[in-house]
Amino acid sequence: MAKVSIENIEKSFGQTQVLKGVSLDIEDGEFVSLVGPSGCGKSTLLRIIAGLEAQDAGDILIGPDNVNTKRAADRNLSMVFQSYALYPHLSVAENIAVPLKMRQMSGLQRLPVLGSFMPGSKKQSVEIGEAVTSAAKTLQIDHLLDRKPGQLSGGQRQRVAVGRALVREPAAFLLDEPLSNLDAKLRVHTRAEIAQLHRQLGATFIYVTHDQVEAMTMSDRIAVMMDGEILQIGSPEEIYDHPADVRVAEFMGLPKMAILPAEADKKGEITLLGTATKIYSEMTSCFLKLGIRPEHFVITKSYPILQGRLVHLENLGSENYAHVTLDGLTEPIVIKTQKHALKAADIGEILPLGFDAADIHLFDEDGKALSISPKTSPHKKLVRRMASV
Ligand code: ADP
Ligand code: MG
Repeated sequence: MAKVSIENIEKSFGQTQVLKGVSLDIEDGEFVSLVGPSGCGKSTLLRIIAGLEAQDAGDILIGPDNVNTKRAADRNLSMVFQSYALYPHLSVAENIAVPLKMRQMSGLQRLPVLGSFMPGSKKQSVEIGEAVTSAAKTLQIDHLLDRKPGQLSGGQRQRVAVGRALVREPAAFLLDEPLSNLDAKLRVHTRAEIAQLHRQLGATFIYVTHDQVEAMTMSDRIAVMMDGEILQIGSPEEIYDHPADVRVAEFMGLPKMAILPAEADKKGEITLLGTATKIYSEMTSCFLKLGIRPEHFVITKSYPILQGRLVHLENLGSENYAHVTLDGLTEPIVIKTQKHALKAADIGEILPLGFDAADIHLFDEDGKALSISPKTSPHKKLVRRMASV
């Protein structure tokens, strides 16, 4: 196992620069997710790490070694793709054994008939058999070893693909959206399994996904990518609680964070959609973006800051998502409420909305995170965490 270092990687396809100087260190044994919208360059970066694509500039290091000039086969990395890329005519055992056979056997030994007469073949095939059985046991597919991929469910195929990555005992695992072909229930289950596998192996994992829930639930650290750049790297908590950029704030979290236009006056006091808030920004006399997560709104008659109109209610069983329009905003915002706080009959009603100053996120006009000024502190608790009325 090894540390993987990505240093100032640049890549263009034709006129389009897909990676604009990406740097990221993945520690030995760490699980790092690269998360971002489709097309932001995640797969390209993973393919460059694997050696399947050449970068225009920058370095890839595995452990202390610069591997820029090493072929994919010599980088000792295992990659699991979204399409599992199993050989349909080979059994599960043979599929898992493919990388070992390719690595261990000389060119002549790989020839089907001649190969079996070559010295060393027998010992190697015993070793390969043991490695395959061990990987299959780890993944609980040892009862499926004789089947063909066509006789397996999607989840089982996915495990075979992981098994094939596992037998190589690579320096690091590279996974490119390995769960996206699974149905929702199996995805949740397999998510937990991959996280457990990571704990069990203590191996370095680089995991690419567009699904922020996967990134949040599995990773030691998350790198949020957009438009060929890493916007923020941090633990799931850091990324969720302290997004450094408004694009990170909007991308991470479901339903999405509400981003409201605001202004700071010359003392820094923030006016939000025409209402003075008693919250102060560290920056004065400027336009701001003020973010509030759906779970941080409260419906309160005592300390309302905003008036919203309820336009739609989604009942998720354990909680409700209330869609609320605000004067001055084109899109409704979504707030989470307790299940019994609102009823479908309340649609059209005006809701007095409040929030705690400590829960807001401030961004400048360019989207970079700002702090709330300590001037706010006497009024920090604008509302108590009261049950919704
Ligand atoms: P992601 O995995 O984040 O969805 P990709 O890395 O696959 O994104 O692609 C990033 C951008 O690069 C996309 O606009 C894609 O169309 C483009 N791209 C990827 N591979 C190639 C290629 N071989 N030739 C031309 N354009 C490509
Ligand atoms: Mg991709």
